[in-house]
Amino acid sequence: MSDPLTRHLRVLRPAPGVFAFYDGRVEGHRFAPGPNWVDDGALSLGVASYAILSGDHALVYDTHVSRAHAALIRATLAAEGARRFTVVLSHWHLDHVAGTAEFADCEVIANVRTAAHLATRKAAIEAGTDHGLPAIDPLILPTRSFDGTLTLDIGGREVRLITANIHSDDATLLWLPDAGILLAGDTVEDTVTYVGAPQDFATHLTDLGRLAGLNPRVILPNHGAPDRIAEARYGPELIAATADYIRFLMRLKDDPAAADLPLATVIADALASGALTMFAPYEGVHRQNVARVLALGTGGDG
Ligand SMILES: [Zn+2]
Repeated sequence: MSDPLTRHLRVLRPAPGVFAFYDGRVEGHRFAPGPNWVDDGALSLGVASYAILSGDHALVYDTHVSRAHAALIRATLAAEGARRFTVVLSHWHLDHVAGTAEFADCEVIANVRTAAHLATRKAAIEAGTDHGLPAIDPLILPTRSFDGTLTLDIGGREVRLITANIHSDDATLLWLPDAGILLAGDTVEDTVTYVGAPQDFATHLTDLGRLAGLNPRVILPNHGAPDRIAEARYGPELIAATADYIRFLMRLKDDPAAADLPLATVIADALASGALTMFAPYEGVHRQNVARVLALGTGGDG
C-alpha cells in the first residue's frame, strides 16, 4: 500500500459488484521523472481500469499503467473474495495493458485486432521504443481472442463483450445487461475523445450509434472525472457528446477557421448541459485532434 508508484490509486465502487481503480489528476504527482507515457498519456488526464466481481470470480477490465498498479488491483479483489481472475483488454494502448504480467497465470481475453496489434508491437513495447519509456517487459499477450461479440459468465453474472472501432480500431466494451452498465474503455472520454484515426470518423459515428442503441443507463469510461465515475454519473449523453465532437472535427475541412476555437467553445452546449466536464489538460488533446484532422488534408473521406 505504501508503494510510491500507487499511493494515489483510488478504489471506487460505482455500482454493486463493479470496482474502478482510478489514478491521476493529482497536482504535483509524477510517476517518473522526465517524459514518459504513464505521466504524459495517462495520469495527466486521469485513468481508470475496472473489475466486475461476482462470487469468487473477478473479471479485470484492463491491467492499468504498471505492474505495481495491477498487483494492488489483484490484492484488492482477492481481499474481497476473488479466487479466480479473467482479464479482458479494452484495446492495445499501453496504459491499458501494462500490468498484465501480474495476471500471467490467468485467461487474458482480447479481440483479434488487439491481439494482432500487441503481437506485432511486442518487441518494441518490451524495449520501450513503441511509445517510449517505461518499457513493459514482459508484455503478456492474450491467451484467447474473439471477434464480434462474446458472452461470459462471471460468477453467474452475464457480461457481454462488444467490439467497436472508435478511438482505436480494436475496442472491446463490456455490457452488463442486468444493470444497464456499459464499460466503455476509451471509446468515450470526458472531456473529449482522443482521435487516432480521423479517416475512420464515419465508422466511429456508426459504432457510437450502435452503442447508444443499447440504451445504457450508466457509462463508465476509462478516462473521465473521478467523482463522476465514483458516483456512476455518466450516461448516454456521453455518447451523444462524443458524436457531436466528432461531427465538429469532420466539418473542419470546410470551415478551417473553427480550428482555432478553444475546446470550451467547441463543446459549450455539452458543458452547459453537464454532459461533459472541462478538464484543462484536454485542451492539449483537442489541439492534437485538430492537427491530425487537418493533416489528413483533402485526401481523407472524413
Ligand atoms: Zn487510454
